[in-house]
Amino acid sequence: MSNCACGGGHHAGGGGPFSEGRELVDFVAQAHGGAKRNAPIPGGGLATSCQGCGAPFTLTTFVGSCPECQGVHAVAPPRSDDAANIQFAGLGYRLP
Ligand SMILES: [Zn+2]
Repeated sequence: MSNCACGGGHHAGGGGPFSEGRELVDFVAQAHGGAKRNAPIPGGGLATSCQGCGAPFTLTTFVGSCPECQGVHAVAPPRSDDAANIQFAGLGYRLP
């Protein structure tokens, strides 16, 4: 990430729950050996709009895809109480 303007030191050591964009998606997808990736978000999920194509959808697992364009989105488990924390991996990204 080179466009982060937060000024914080949270990028040390690579991805973490406060990463952004693709870095966050990768982090959540690999957390706990991938166990969190398909785990349901408490409360039934987060209603959001795709950050790639704008289609409304509900993110029901910590890593999920837009039903329209398959754009990959994720939210860190400690921050999953707010749809504003959902990060988008970018168009063309596919989960490893
Ligand atoms: Zn989409």
